[in-house]
Amino acid sequence: MGNRLAGKVAVVTGGNQGIGRAIAERLAEEDCVVAVGDLLQGRADATNAGKLSFLVLDVTDEASIRAFVDQVLERFGRIDILVNNAGMVIHKSIDDQTAEDWDRLMAVNLRGPFLMAKYVVPEMRRAGSGAIVNIGSVEGYMVNPWHTAYAATKAGVHGLTLGLSVDLGPDGIRCNTVCPGWIDTDLNRAYVEMHPDRKLIERELSYLHPAGRIGAPKEIANAVLWLVSEESSFVSGEMISVDGARTKKIPLPAILDEEYRSKLTETSV
Ligand code: NDP
Repeated sequence: MGNRLAGKVAVVTGGNQGIGRAIAERLAEEDCVVAVGDLLQGRADATNAGKLSFLVLDVTDEASIRAFVDQVLERFGRIDILVNNAGMVIHKSIDDQTAEDWDRLMAVNLRGPFLMAKYVVPEMRRAGSGAIVNIGSVEGYMVNPWHTAYAATKAGVHGLTLGLSVDLGPDGIRCNTVCPGWIDTDLNRAYVEMHPDRKLIERELSYLHPAGRIGAPKEIANAVLWLVSEESSFVSGEMISVDGARTKKIPLPAILDEEYRSKLTETSV
């Protein structure tokens, strides 16, 4: 518990579970008032607690965004921090993917962050400062099979970040993106659970990461905390990967990588 964000009000989209929930809790631990906006469809885990409030928000619906922002301002009087975290993935080849799939992904992952910024920025401007953090992905740079549309949305989020940092810099508003690697949440748990040998797939995943393991939601939350705090006051327009160096290692054939893999087996937890 600290007070690095005392007196601030943050909005976190898609914060009912996974990475968004960890971000909301981490900001609240630093004395920030946090309004979580999420679909909240019949979810029992969304109970207002301490500095956390849960409000209904559908980031694909402009009217819902306007109503959400109005509600936050009515309740808390200001918005200093926006974390655009809500996101979804569709795994389909280009042959199976429909125009509706494409539009849905774009609406949640890219149009949502744009509209959230559009309606929150006037408040930040009035205050003369603000911090926006988008949750992009390492898939804005590199792509898993069957993720054409998802990767396009995340590359778009990276472009949005560049544009907002330039346009809003003169208003004292910073905008950055955190690009998570493989983080243990519902979003990708289905992948792991699809495989009958859970231990094997976990070991294979650890081999992909020089850190020897996948990441935890809290590790993304810590990066977001830094980016919304004064400690990063001259950082804007950056894409920061938090991926245990997965995207920094050039893949080798397994047979040539045995010594490195055995080291990872010794060190991974
Ligand atoms: P989860 O699926 O665990 O959580 C996503 C959250 O977003 C859910 O609470 C979901 O609500 C909410 N949400 C979805 N659609 C909307 C909407 N239209 N309006 C408001 N809220 C919505 O995902 P993660 O926590 O793993 O992902 C969070 C972000 O991190 C995403 O942007 C994702 O792309 C990104 N990311 C995740 C990685 C990972 O390895 N986990 C890797 C790289 C990036 P509900 O449950 O009700 O649908």
